[in-house]
Amino acid sequence: MALKTALVCGAGGFIGSHMVCRLINEGYWVRGVDLKYPDFSPSKANDFVIADLRNRESWEAVLDDNVDEVYQFAADMGGAGYVFTGTNDAHIMHNSAMINLHMADFAVKQKVKKVFYSSSACIYPSYNQEDAANPKCGESTAYPAAPDSEYGWEKLFSERLYFAFTRNYGLDVHIARFHNIFGPEGTWQGGKEKAPAALCRKVAEQANGGEIEIWGDGEQTRSFLYIDECIEAVRRLMASPFKGPVNIGSEEMVTINNMARMIMKIAGKDLSIKHIPGPLGVRGRNSDNKVIREKLGWGPSQRLYDGLAKTYPWIVSQIAALRNEDPKSNS
Ligand code: NAD
Repeated sequence: MALKTALVCGAGGFIGSHMVCRLINEGYWVRGVDLKYPDFSPSKANDFVIADLRNRESWEAVLDDNVDEVYQFAADMGGAGYVFTGTNDAHIMHNSAMINLHMADFAVKQKVKKVFYSSSACIYPSYNQEDAANPKCGESTAYPAAPDSEYGWEKLFSERLYFAFTRNYGLDVHIARFHNIFGPEGTWQGGKEKAPAALCRKVAEQANGGEIEIWGDGEQTRSFLYIDECIEAVRRLMASPFKGPVNIGSEEMVTINNMARMIMKIAGKDLSIKHIPGPLGVRGRNSDNKVIREKLGWGPSQRLYDGLAKTYPWIVSQIAALRNEDPKSNS
């Protein structure tokens, strides 16, 4: 007999598919829902429904009154190449807001006991992230609001939406602001991939002595959190009375150039870097983990290098698998 039941929205995506595994291992009965099945391995969910969560009928189909907890990861999202070009803005805002509007309303109706909502570091004001060496991303710095993307504005709107449902209807929502989560089974090609996966792919595709391209001067800073650490932090947040919003990220800030060098070291390759124009986002960003340390006693347990050392071979294996299927691709 399962301990509890959970609905994981976005269970065909990167973080959602990892959360399904974790909940199953903990003894939950899990239903996953997404527009698609996971890209890289079969879902471990007890039940998996293909549905479009922008539609109310989909919520009626997946969120029955037996669901104890909902993990809401479904969103129209991607890396800088998707979020910062401007061409996807209307889709991003409309699709994700529709999902969250239905979700909040329906969770109240079905008396869901607990909800997790995945917000983003992209909600933080761009004026606090102009200095690559000293970005400010403490939770209390979110206002006056000035996210640098429509993706960030939608996340901020949805944070407020969920907390309004907490105030007015008692919905128990816990919110985290993720800072660049990466690891095996994340998108690594196609335009929606993020920097760690994109750089692993570029390094993997080059022979020793070759060249990789990086957008901008590569001196922009970020921090990156390995997927298992993210899942652990979310589970701790859901087990706690603390509702957030709280940062879930790493405080190990690196320049993109230095992360590329780490990956080259893991690959045992010496490559040169060519800097080219591209969509960049803010100049500097780092997680501030003071609140999560205080409230949940959580912090990452491993260095960025260790996470990259697990991710790089996975991307190498993906490239090899693709080449076996179609020898002309990636050649
Ligand atoms: P992902 O793109 O891999 O997963 C999102 C999933 O949502 C996808 O599988 C997609 O098909 C699904 N989805 C989109 N529209 C849908 C719809 N209309 N109906 C049903 N499913 C739909 O992204 P991820 O990296 O797993 O991110 C999960 C969540 O965490 C997202 O909300 C994202 O904004 C947030 N987040 C992620 C990061 C990160 O670094 N990965 C950082 C900050 C915030």
